[in-house]
Amino acid sequence: MRQTLLPDLVVDAHRVSSGVAITVEHGRLAAVGPAIDGERLSGRALAPGFVNDHSHAFQRGLRGAVEQMEPSQPRDDFWTWRERMYSLAGGLGPSSIREVSRRCYGEMLSAGYTSVTEVHYVHQRPEGTPYEDPNALAKAVALAAEDTGIRLLLLPVAYARDGLPRFRDPSVQAFLQRVDAIREWSEGRPLVEVGVGAHSVRAVPRGWLEEIGRYARRNDLPVHIHADEQQREIEECLAEHGMRPIELLARTGFLGTRTTIIHATHAGGRELDLLSQHGASVCACPTTEGNLGDGFLPAGKILERNLRLSVGSDSHVRIDPFEELREIETNARRLSGQRNVLITGNETSPTPYLLRAGWGSTGLQAGDPADFIEIDLANPALAGVEASNLPSALVFGAGSGVVAGTWVDGRKVYDRGDTSG
Ligand SMILES: [Zn+2]
Repeated sequence: MRQTLLPDLVVDAHRVSSGVAITVEHGRLAAVGPAIDGERLSGRALAPGFVNDHSHAFQRGLRGAVEQMEPSQPRDDFWTWRERMYSLAGGLGPSSIREVSRRCYGEMLSAGYTSVTEVHYVHQRPEGTPYEDPNALAKAVALAAEDTGIRLLLLPVAYARDGLPRFRDPSVQAFLQRVDAIREWSEGRPLVEVGVGAHSVRAVPRGWLEEIGRYARRNDLPVHIHADEQQREIEECLAEHGMRPIELLARTGFLGTRTTIIHATHAGGRELDLLSQHGASVCACPTTEGNLGDGFLPAGKILERNLRLSVGSDSHVRIDPFEELREIETNARRLSGQRNVLITGNETSPTPYLLRAGWGSTGLQAGDPADFIEIDLANPALAGVEASNLPSALVFGAGSGVVAGTWVDGRKVYDRGDTSG
């Protein structure tokens, strides 16, 4: 089925256009260009959907529940938060992980995310033995994505030591066999792609990093890992390996053009240089990093090196892509004492850089998957904003409440169902 939509405006990272229609066919954008007819979307601007590049969907279950001290823990930090997250993870089963993931992904669609990268590490039964289907929990998460209609990049991630028994695999071979099996299962599921990952240098030894890096390259898969989120992790890595986490990843062959480093909060200049040399990316999760007290992303150094940047809502303390992007620039301003900090090339505003990080593209283009959002131009947050200022108003002055509809694979999968006009 072919459908042509004619909104008031189409937003990309550099400009806002009127009189532009988008034509959707077989899940793709068949055409984006000038048009005078089509299905009128009055009071709406269309923009690319946001990519949520880092999620642990089940952690949505902690929303609001971990914002007070435990009397037994006078100092609350990442590590005490992790104990509470473990106790949530300990109680999950196939149906409860599907339910919490469905809730999480439904909220993402309502906030304007059209795809999500799920970093999945709860693999086994609570006591650590495999389910009858060793991928039962990963499949439950994938089915939740299909239930809601969000596009999913599912990354089973390896966990070798520490954590809970149910996170761990007995060997890297056993882990990769499960990845093979779920890759095969995902074939013919248009919304589900499978990659691979390792949890962190804390949880995975050197030999596993080498094997997983090799497997990802051989199969041309995206591969993600948490690194440099916490100082303690860096100290432990220095003690064990005599080098910092990203140096270890370079040494073990883990870095490549399809590698994404999650957080990189405390990455040093040499580590960022290594990412640049290997063409690897960084995924920032500012609302989670703020909530956990991790620190500030070295955003200026990432930009200087032209590293590819994406954002994720990680623990889902908040699900709002506008806020994630705004936080990156706002933190850079707090750290530098300046305004309009994250500027690339000839640009004069950080807005295009931030939107490209959020969308993974510069705008809606023919041939791309038909994943896009409808923005309600009558929303109070956008009242009185000139069309040409709309991109910056979205990044600096708006939130997920401006999203009126979300389309994935050419289908409208979220409709706010009212108008504020
Ligand atoms: Zn994470």
